[in-house]
Amino acid sequence: MQKNILLVEDSRLSSKIISDFLIENGYKVEHVDTGEAAVKKACSSSLADLIIMDIELAGCMNGIDAARKILENKDIPIVFLTGNASKEIFLELASVQAYGFVLKGTNEFSLLSTIEMALTLHEEKKQTKNFNYEIAKAHIELEASRKEYIELAENAPVGILKCDSNGNVIFVNQSALEILGSPSAEETKKINIFRIPALVHCGLSEQLKKCIVDNVHGIFEMDYESKWGKRAYIRLHIKPFTGCCNSIGAQLIIDDITEQKHMEEELRILSSTDPLTSVYNRRYFIEKLEEECHRVQKQGWGTFSVALLDIDHFKSINDCFGHHAGDIVLTKLTETINNRIRKIDCLARWGGEEFILLFPHTKLAEAKLLIEELRNSISKMDTLVANKITVSIGVAEYCANETVDSIIQRADNLMYEAKNAGRNCVRSC
Ligand code: GH3
Ligand code: MG
Ligand code: MG
Repeated sequence: MQKNILLVEDSRLSSKIISDFLIENGYKVEHVDTGEAAVKKACSSSLADLIIMDIELAGCMNGIDAARKILENKDIPIVFLTGNASKEIFLELASVQAYGFVLKGTNEFSLLSTIEMALTLHEEKKQTKNFNYEIAKAHIELEASRKEYIELAENAPVGILKCDSNGNVIFVNQSALEILGSPSAEETKKINIFRIPALVHCGLSEQLKKCIVDNVHGIFEMDYESKWGKRAYIRLHIKPFTGCCNSIGAQLIIDDITEQKHMEEELRILSSTDPLTSVYNRRYFIEKLEEECHRVQKQGWGTFSVALLDIDHFKSINDCFGHHAGDIVLTKLTETINNRIRKIDCLARWGGEEFILLFPHTKLAEAKLLIEELRNSISKMDTLVANKITVSIGVAEYCANETVDSIIQRADNLMYEAKNAGRNCVRSC
């Protein structure tokens, strides 16, 4: 592309010679003859790619002052023309960062080569400047996004904790401090997650270490009590971060799931128990019975017994004392039974005034003894709100390979046998 040269020269003759020579060599030339005109021209339009500046000029401003003024506003390479090659002139030229100078009267080709060198040098300088600018810009952007990330992490609604590859805490956000009940970030940074007694005790610190060493993610849940006495059910997501070839630490996301756990527990209780008596419900009992059948069948030995119990003439309790009194009697009955049976036994409400019992590892003879004892205590039980009650019970022991339905059916049949035998008695097989 054709380059524009602004020639600042007050000698008509020499400016004509230089202009013609430069035009001949492919440049476009504009000519002014004073320093003031040069400043005006250079600063008002950005057309000049290079300025050839005579030092001694007509007007008040010499070439060096004009150059200074121009360079304050524009980045244009300036080559000086001088008839005086003294040391003082060199020093002045150096102070305005001249791209070169040419002695007047020397061969025009030396002017041409100085111009070409100045243009090349200026272009390279511009590119380096652009490159440095891009690097600085990328640096600033990186720093801004780092700050943004830290701010985001600081205020995240989940706990965030970072540790180095040795387990030393190096960052902790506000939510993590709250979950741990820690007084400050400084106190928390004294922790080494591989040495927290509660984590060491349950083997979690070893697992965290393994995640970092093997560079794998992990999710762990635990009921955690911090060294500051804060207790919470927490879920830990561990995500190692790596350097060029090995793990240099990990990020731990800490969720306080205490409320969620409580809700799950409430839901579990609601879905497995009877709301009136709080004993297990039919659905839960069948699950337990299936597990027990499976256990005995899998191990090929062992046994268990099932008892079905029905209150005799319960309708008359409701009729005589009211439905609410009937409810109290049902609750009293379950309390009496629960007070006598073992923890591993299972009492459930089968429906209405019928209850079912599972006795793991219990042969018929043992189950019968216990059931007889229960029947006896129920008959003597003080119902508080109604007359005394009696129950009829069928007891069956598991037979090899029988199903859940079949053992329940047998216990039910036996309970009806007890009813037919006059109630307040036990039938078994
Ligand atoms: P049987 O000796 O033949 O078993 O006579 P029963 O009166 O006990 O049997 P029936 O099936 O005729 O009546 C059962 C009664 O149990 C009727 C029903 O209203 C009552 N019942 C069922 N569930 C509840 C309950 O949750 N609360 C109360 N109060 N009564 C209930
Ligand atoms: Mg009944
Ligand atoms: Mg009944």
